[in-house]
Amino acid sequence: MSDIGSPAEPQLDGLGSLRRTHACGGVGAAQVGQEITVAGWVHSARDHGGVIFVDLRDRSGRLQVVFRPDASPACHQRAGALRSEYVIAARGRLARRDPDTVNPSLPTGAFELVASELRLLNRAFPPPFPIEEEPGVEETVRLRHRLHDLRRPSFQRALRVRHDLYQSARRTLSELGFLEIETPILTKATPEGARDFLVPSRLQPGEFYALPQSPQIMKQLLMIAGYERYFQIARCFRDEDQRADRQLEFTQIDLEMSFVGVDDVLEVLEELTRRAWRDAIGVELPRPFPRLSYADAMARYGSDKPDTRVLLELVELTDLFRGTAFRAFGATVERGGVVKCLPIHDAEALTRGEIDRLEAFVKKELGGRGLAWVRIGADGAWQSPIAKFLSEPERAGIVERTRARAGSLLFFAADEFAKANAILGRLRTDLGRQLGRVEDRPWAPVLVLRFPLFEADDAGGLTFMHMPFVAPVEEDLPLLDADPRRVRGTHYDVVMNGIELGSGSLRNHRSDVQRRIFEILGYAKAEMEERFGFLLNALDAGAPPHGGFAFGLDRMAMLLAGASSLRDVIAFPKTQRGQDLLMGSPSRVDAEQLDELGLVIARAEEEA
Ligand code: ASP
Repeated sequence: MSDIGSPAEPQLDGLGSLRRTHACGGVGAAQVGQEITVAGWVHSARDHGGVIFVDLRDRSGRLQVVFRPDASPACHQRAGALRSEYVIAARGRLARRDPDTVNPSLPTGAFELVASELRLLNRAFPPPFPIEEEPGVEETVRLRHRLHDLRRPSFQRALRVRHDLYQSARRTLSELGFLEIETPILTKATPEGARDFLVPSRLQPGEFYALPQSPQIMKQLLMIAGYERYFQIARCFRDEDQRADRQLEFTQIDLEMSFVGVDDVLEVLEELTRRAWRDAIGVELPRPFPRLSYADAMARYGSDKPDTRVLLELVELTDLFRGTAFRAFGATVERGGVVKCLPIHDAEALTRGEIDRLEAFVKKELGGRGLAWVRIGADGAWQSPIAKFLSEPERAGIVERTRARAGSLLFFAADEFAKANAILGRLRTDLGRQLGRVEDRPWAPVLVLRFPLFEADDAGGLTFMHMPFVAPVEEDLPLLDADPRRVRGTHYDVVMNGIELGSGSLRNHRSDVQRRIFEILGYAKAEMEERFGFLLNALDAGAPPHGGFAFGLDRMAMLLAGASSLRDVIAFPKTQRGQDLLMGSPSRVDAEQLDELGLVIARAEEEA
C-alpha cells in the first residue's frame, strides 16, 4: 500500500448532468447490482497494487469507491490525483465486497461502488487534523479550523440532535396552542442581571440599542396584548465573564402563558422535556417529574440544581452548635451562618491523604476556611482534629443526626449559608461519583420550586434572586410589607442530572405589586418610571395573570448529544474570551464607520 499522489494538478469538472442518486451511508443490499451516483468528500484514498480505494464521505456516512484499471482506465488514471477532502461525484455499480475485505466498523462496510465515471468537483488543501470522531487536537485548533471540525461525524450528529430538539419544541408547543412570535434583537435593556451588549444608533446619534438578555418584557407585553400562549426559539445576549458552561450569545426555547398558575406551566415544561428526550434520542422520561422545594434542595443537597442520583445527603447541625464552646462553629452560628455535615458511611476507601487533598481543594477552589472532619474507627473511636473541642452532648447529637457508625467519615462546613452549601454540595457530588454512590439511571429530571423572592445584597439591602418581575406566591403577598425577606417567589427551575435546563415564574400582573417590589429593590420612583414606565403602564392596560419559562436550548442539546461542552453543540461558538477564532471577531472598524456613528475610541485594548 502506498499513499497516492501525482504532482500534476488535475483539471476540475462540472457536475454536468450527473446527479447524486444515493447518500453514501444510505446504500445497502437493495442497491447491489444497480448503477448509482454518490457525491461527497474524499475521506481517504489508497492505492493497493494498482487498484485505488477511496472512502467517500457525505453527511450520511461513508462508502468505499473502487477505481480499477480494467473497469475504467480513464477514471482510474484520474483517481490517482485524489487527495483527502477533494470533492467528487462518482457513478458506478454497487457490488458486495469479498468476505475477507468487509469492514465491520462501517455500516456500508460490506459494499463498494465500482466506479465507471468520476467528476472532480473541487480540490482542497490538506485538512489541519483528521476528520474523525475524535480529532486529537486542542480545542483552539478546532475553533480556528471550525469548518473541518464541523465535518467530523460526531459534530454532525450533535447538530442533528440539536435540529431534532428545535423541531420537537416547535411541534409540541404548536400542538399545545402556542404561537411562534419573533421579538426584536435591537431593543432596550432588559434586567436579567447581566451586562448588556450595546449597539450605537446612527440615526439617533449618541443613543444605543441594547441586545436582549432575553425577550422577557416583550413576551409579557404579548400576554397583555392578548396572545395567551407565545413561544420563540430566541437568541439572547449577555456580556458576562465567561465560565465553562456559558456563551455570550445563546439560545432559549422561550415561552409565556396567560391565565395560569404554577402547575399549569409545569405541566407544559414536563411535556416539552419528555417529548424532546423522546424525539431527539428515543428516551422515555418518567412522569411526573419529582418536585423539590428550594429549601429542601438546599438542605439535602446543598444545591438548587441537585443531581438526585448521587445518594449522599447533607445534614443540618446549626441548632446543635448554638452557644457551643467550640468557637470555630459557634462564631459562625452567632453571625447567622450555618453548620452542616456530609456523612459518608463505609468510607474506609478515603485515605488521610485524600482528606488532606480535599481540604486543600476546598480552601483553594471553593473559598472555604478549611474542612473539619471526623472519622469513626472500627473500634468506634473518633479520629479527628476537632473531636477534642466537642462536648459529649454535641457528639451524641452529631451521631444521632448523621447516623454515624464505625467506618463513617463526616465532613463539616461552618460558614454563610451559600458557601457552606456550595462546599458540601460539591463534595457530595464529587465523592458520591468517586465512591460509586450513584443510582443507576441515566436521567434524573427534577422540578425545583418556591425560591425566595429576594436575597441579601452586599450593601445590606435586598436584591432579586432571579429577576424583578417574578410574582410572590399568593399567600406571601402580605409579607411584602411586613417582612420582605421571607417572601417566597413563584420561581421554578427544571433540572436534569444536576444541570439547570431553564427557569421561569409567574409574573406580577398587578402594577401595585410590581411597584412595591421595585421599591423593595431600592429603585427610586423616577428611575422606576424611566426604566420600567412602559411596563408599569402596560400592566394597567388590563394585564392578565401570566407566567412562563425559558429553556437553555444549548444546554439541552449538550445533554442530549452527550457532549461535554456547549461549544460542541454550537456551530460557531465563542471562546472563553468572547472571540470567534474562525471569522476573527470582535475586530476593529474603519474610522469612517466610527465617524458615522459619532463614536471616538478613547481607550484601545493595549491601553485598557
Ligand atoms: N426570561 C427569563 C430568563 O431568561 C426566563 C423566564 O422567566 O421566562 O432567565
